[in-house]
Parts: sequence; structure tokens; C-alpha cells
Amino acid sequence: MLYYDSSIGQKIPKLIDYFHKGIIDEDKNISHCLLFWGTDITLQCGLALEIARLLNCKEDKSTDCNCLNCRWIREQTHPSVKIYTRLDFKEADTSNSDDEDSSKGKRNINISQAKSIINELSISSDYHRVYIFCDRDEDGNLLPLNQMNFPEATSNALLKTFEEPPKNTTFIFLTKDKTDVISTVVSRAQSFFVPAIMSDDGGYSLVENAIANYWTFDRNKVLDLENTLLGLIAENDTKDVFIQIQNYMREILKANFHNKPLFYRITEDLKFVEEALQQVTLSRMNIQTVVENLCFKLLLKG
Ligand SMILES: [Zn+2]
Repeated sequence: MLYYDSSIGQKIPKLIDYFHKGIIDEDKNISHCLLFWGTDITLQCGLALEIARLLNCKEDKSTDCNCLNCRWIREQTHPSVKIYTRLDFKEADTSNSDDEDSSKGKRNINISQAKSIINELSISSDYHRVYIFCDRDEDGNLLPLNQMNFPEATSNALLKTFEEPPKNTTFIFLTKDKTDVISTVVSRAQSFFVPAIMSDDGGYSLVENAIANYWTFDRNKVLDLENTLLGLIAENDTKDVFIQIQNYMREILKANFHNKPLFYRITEDLKFVEEALQQVTLSRMNIQTVVENLCFKLLLKG
């Protein structure tokens, strides 16, 4: 999966501007250890790759620069810019490793992987190395680091490296919340909140038929609503469905500013949808469970 995002400058212009200025500055005022936190891990990865591009570009660093480094980073084939997850990791030699994780594998970024990073860094590089740490599922959807997939033992093995990395090396950690990563890493990193971006236009055509006037639905329609939403999710991006439900609710709020009971109810419902969205995107809860819970909350109260 490609995570480079060519429109990232429009999505989070302030952050891009900050790093761009820091990187072109003679003193390179950017920490070699960066931690991003927020709900949109893919966006964080896009930011990390853009930083990698700015650090490696040999020309004017413009968004449409076509130098070899920029092209490699857009294609994610740059030899020194790497996304490290528990699932994709080139392990030099694990055949004689006694680390149980390497055989059963895949639960976390383990110590042998930490050692291979340290080895790799001992060889000098012509490029600016950028190592991005996060998690992903089998389908390539990016997920945040936490203390399960990036355990204390691994970060302890890398701590000295994070503290005093070789020249031209930057580590970037992608997380949901700073507290998800052990404090020794957090304390060595410069942290940035990356706001989630709604990639939509505020519309709700996708869900309108399903949820129009849902607050008037009879309670015994809860299963119908659940099935309709699951049907929409099966054919569309899950995130889009939830975001469009929120868009619809916001429209209703705007139109019902003076209808206090409805206003409060929908304000509350918006939070339920946000919760559901997070459960699906971050906690990877079963989609059917999430939608079922949501429909019960939306219809069975009051
Ligand atoms: Zn370039």
C-alpha cells in the first residue's frame, strides 16, 4: 500500500510549513525523534513521508520535485526511508534466533528487529535515514503503536539509538495517544498532535435514505437500521458511512437550534457515532458489534 499523500500540504498546512521551515533552516531545528499522535494514522504516515522527502530532496524541495529521492519516496522505494511495523520487517537472519517472537512472529516489533536496526545504522548512509514506526493489519491499513506491538523491551533495546542516533537519521513514531507508548520514548521525542481530516465535502447522500429523521423511528426498527447500515458499510468505506452520518446530524443541528430537546439529543448522538468510528478504525472492534451498539443507542433511548 502506498501512503504518500500528495495533497498533504492542503490537509495540514501548518504542520507541513513548520517542518519545511525547520528543514530548510541551516540549523535544522527539527528533532531526530518525532512522535505524532491523533486518530488518523494514515495521515500521520503521509506527514512522516513528506518530512522524509524534504530531508532527502536534492533539489528545491517543491511538492512537484522530480528528483530521484522525491520519486523514490513517493513510490515508497527509497532505500533509507522505511515504515517499520510488526508485519513487515526485513530480518537479516532469524534462523538461529532464540527470540520466540520470530518463530511465532508478528505480534510485535521484537528485540531481534531492534538489533537489526542497530546493525543497519552502524553502516553509514548517503541518504537521510527516516524510520517510521507504526502498526498495520494484514490488509495494509495503518494502526497506531501501543505497548503491545511496540513493547518496552524493544524500546529499551533502541533507547540509546533514539537518544544519540547516527548523523542524518530521524525516527518517527505514529500513535493514537502519547500514553500508548512507553514514557522513555515519549520523553526523548518531540511530540506533535496531527488533527484528523475529514476527506469529505460535508455531504450525506450515501446515508440519507437510511437515517433521515431517525429520531422518529419506532424502537422496533433498530434491527432494520442495523441491517441497512451494515449493507452500506459492505459496499462503501466504513469511515465514509460514519462520517456522512455525522454530516447529516450536523445539518439537523443547524436547522434545529431552537428545538432544545432535539438539539441535545443529536449532540449526544454525534458522540456515539464518533465513538463507533474510533472503535472501528482504532480498536478494530467487530463492525457488526459496533453498528449494533450504535443503533441501540440511537433508537432505544428516551
Ligand atoms: Zn526532490
